[in-house]
Amino acid sequence: MTGTRQYTIDVIAGDGIGQEVMPAALRCVDALAGAHGFTVRWRERDWGSDHYRAHGRMMPADGIEQLASGDGVLLGAIGDPDIPDDVTLWGLLIPIRREFHQYVNLRPIRILPGVTSPLRGLDELDLVVVRENIEGEYSEVGGRIYRGRPEEMAVQESVFTRAGVTRIARYAAELAQGRSGRLISATKSNGIIHTMPFWDEVVEATVAEHPGVTVEKVLIDALAARMVLKPRSVDVVVAPNLFGDILSDLAAGVAGSIGVAPSANLNPEKTHPSMFEPVHGSAPDIAGQGIANPVGTMWAAAMMLDHLGEEEAARHLESAFEQAMAGGTLTGDLGGTASTEEFTQAVLARCTTAP
Ligand code: ATP
Ligand code: MG
Repeated sequence: MTGTRQYTIDVIAGDGIGQEVMPAALRCVDALAGAHGFTVRWRERDWGSDHYRAHGRMMPADGIEQLASGDGVLLGAIGDPDIPDDVTLWGLLIPIRREFHQYVNLRPIRILPGVTSPLRGLDELDLVVVRENIEGEYSEVGGRIYRGRPEEMAVQESVFTRAGVTRIARYAAELAQGRSGRLISATKSNGIIHTMPFWDEVVEATVAEHPGVTVEKVLIDALAARMVLKPRSVDVVVAPNLFGDILSDLAAGVAGSIGVAPSANLNPEKTHPSMFEPVHGSAPDIAGQGIANPVGTMWAAAMMLDHLGEEEAARHLESAFEQAMAGGTLTGDLGGTASTEEFTQAVLARCTTAP
């Protein structure tokens, strides 16, 4: 027997319903930890929009250094109707993704029990979107001149590097190797004639080094239609930053709910902490009412357990919330009447028994 495995996780519950869904997820992980032989030390950070109002920053100036000593970051939601999105994004999320080289944004998509897809007859779906999380269209290269004048113009460059495309393609190819072996690469090389052909070439060359994996290049417009018309023909998708952002929300919509979708910002080499979060935002329209669905955060916590190497606990947590949902305990966004607390109790009951 080795000693108990210990992890230090930074918790940024953040804004709005982040404050409600985060405790729900932490209680589930704590309930599982004992039975699975590990402990988690939570370092709670009061960062986010209230921190911005009090200190003029979303997180302390040395926030990144504070997180660097941990084993991972669990994030609830960041966003506030009174604070511009670029302040919340560039003040916290984007610096963490970049400084910690979290170049993979992983979005698993499944139709969970009790969730109805808007697509008639679709009751099963299992795909993963692998979004490049650092480069591409989300760049600071560019500028804007002649503000407010008729001759005003804005230019923003997208940036693709061989190293950046290679590493995301490698991650996606390895993921596909463990699944169907069918990888789809989202592109637009017919219209965007410099960066996208480069993306295509590097993805193709990288995938060629992975036996058993085939890559199909699909133009993003056609892929969007295919995701709706034949979503089950899609298994693993690798996409540049902007296309991946859009596709993963599209796929989450096809799966029926934004409230249950998770996302992981991964540094696969584990040279820096990774960050796990639900896809939804702060949902100011329902914040403070105790009715938010905590499944997105619970699923994100399960992805975190996976990344830490606690695969058994991760599967246990996933089956606990899936069973609670299958048993008919559903929050309002899924047409049920359960509060966040009632749903969490139903999951906790299944975290303390064998999966
Ligand atoms: P932000 O600016 O932080 O992104 P938002 O309101 O723009 O917030 P979301 O928070 O994603 O975006 O909310 C979109 C809609 O989905 C809202 O009506 C919200 O109430 C609902 N919603 C989002 N997450 C949940 C959840 N976990 N449980 C229940 N409803 C949710
Ligand atoms: Mg929003």
